[in-house]
Amino acid sequence: MNHDVIVLGAGLAGLAAAWDLAAGGADVLVAEARGRAGGRVEQTELPDGRLVQLGGEVVGRAHSAYLALVAELGLSLVPSYVAEPGVIARATPEGISAGDPPHWFGPGDDTAHRRVSAAFAALAASVDPDDPWNHPEATALDGLSVADWLRSEGASPAVVRLWEIGQLALADGSYERTSLLAALRKHAAVPGEGDRSSGHYDYEDWEGLRVAEGSATVALRMADALGERVRYGAPVEAVDISRSGCAVRLASGETLTARAVVSALPVGPLRSVPISGVSTERLASLHRQRQAVAAKFAAAYTKPFWRDSGLNGLSENEGVLGSTWPQNEGVLSALIPPERYGVLLGMPQALRETELLSDIARLYGDEAHRPLGSWIRLWGTDPWTQGYVTQWTPGDVLAVGPLHGTHEPPFYVCGSDQWVAGYMEGAVRTGRAAADEVLRHG
Ligand SMILES: Cc1cc2nc3c(=O)[nH]c(=O)nc-3n(C[C@H](O)[C@H](O)[C@H](O)COP(=O)(O)OP(=O)(O)OC[C@H]3O[C@@H](n4cnc5c(N)ncnc54)[C@H](O)[C@@H]3O)c2cc1C
Repeated sequence: MNHDVIVLGAGLAGLAAAWDLAAGGADVLVAEARGRAGGRVEQTELPDGRLVQLGGEVVGRAHSAYLALVAELGLSLVPSYVAEPGVIARATPEGISAGDPPHWFGPGDDTAHRRVSAAFAALAASVDPDDPWNHPEATALDGLSVADWLRSEGASPAVVRLWEIGQLALADGSYERTSLLAALRKHAAVPGEGDRSSGHYDYEDWEGLRVAEGSATVALRMADALGERVRYGAPVEAVDISRSGCAVRLASGETLTARAVVSALPVGPLRSVPISGVSTERLASLHRQRQAVAAKFAAAYTKPFWRDSGLNGLSENEGVLGSTWPQNEGVLSALIPPERYGVLLGMPQALRETELLSDIARLYGDEAHRPLGSWIRLWGTDPWTQGYVTQWTPGDVLAVGPLHGTHEPPFYVCGSDQWVAGYMEGAVRTGRAAADEVLRHG
């Protein structure tokens, strides 16, 4: 046997798994398709030294696995955009507003929004994020979309629109096509604290912190420490699992062998890798998972000019962009949600940057058209990602079922898709948990 364990994929999940396996004394090898580590965390550096994040960026106070890893790696956390002075902006075809409530709210909408938010939080408290399948109403809750539930609670179209613009700002799929059970499960995994306990997706709870040295540095530090135990440019083409020895075939034709395999591949690319020796139920569950297809846009400026108009750079949009937020001094991030991904792809490539900058200029003024640099990262159609974060449409939670996030030794599974809602927390949490399981089985 060449190795104790082969890990598939050098994203945060695979690296966190390999990091713990190596620390536990295992002979581990990571096979990575790309020529770099990090997967969906990636960064580039401006000539003036500022880092620009092209993938995952921010985390919340309850993202305990990620926060612990950051501390172990000697990296530091600072407040994210939530500490920016100024207020949020919202842009829709008929207008723009700064702060709350949004410009389309009429009398009674704010009260109704608070009421349904509290009802959502109360319902979420009845869901066990680790076992949503045993909720007494699991089938009904999974079959209902969040938007249908809002309407059944008496939410006005204006309130549904506020929830929807917020959901598309996260570049998750529309609430018209999101399972209520999945949304409740996500909330139950990170319930708000104190004043925020009756809220719904609180930005501070989910996104209040970032790694000062750059979020992709978390992955790069682990990859550096693992050194030659990470093989780059090594796409995995087929996997055979057996208690007497596992085989991993690479695109180069080389076959690696090991006692155990940890898959840290996103669910899209995983579907293209034939896996034998694993139960059909597990493969069906893994192959049933889906990802929201989204893109990220980043634009770097000399200074945070949005502050001049009292805005904090955070926005929710009904343009092609779903959102903007400041990721670093003078650097704006933006997401293109799945519902608008096709619109972006349909634009001639030469016009894409100008059109996206126009969405930003509408919010913050013409200076938006003069960035020092800008980057469009089409994660949804990147062959080694095929998505962005986990997406659960009505019926998906039950269809994926309780095998979600579990293992079948000597085949182990991790990756952000194996946690409730994706995110860097999901990658680190499931990566470290998979390593733990491997070491426990010896
Ligand atoms: C634009 C964007 C913004 C985001 N923002 C945030 C955020 O602010 N906060 C947050 O918490 N999360 C965010 N996320 C999500 C977060 O970045 C991801 O959930 C997390 O990084 C995924 O880690 P992973 O290891 O599970 O998967 P990945 O990072 O996708 O790693 C999988 C690895 O497997 C490799 N691979 C694929 N196929 C093969 C193959 N056949 N053989 C070998 N290797 C293969 C890939 O190249 C990749 O390196 C964002 C994601 C994106 C794309």
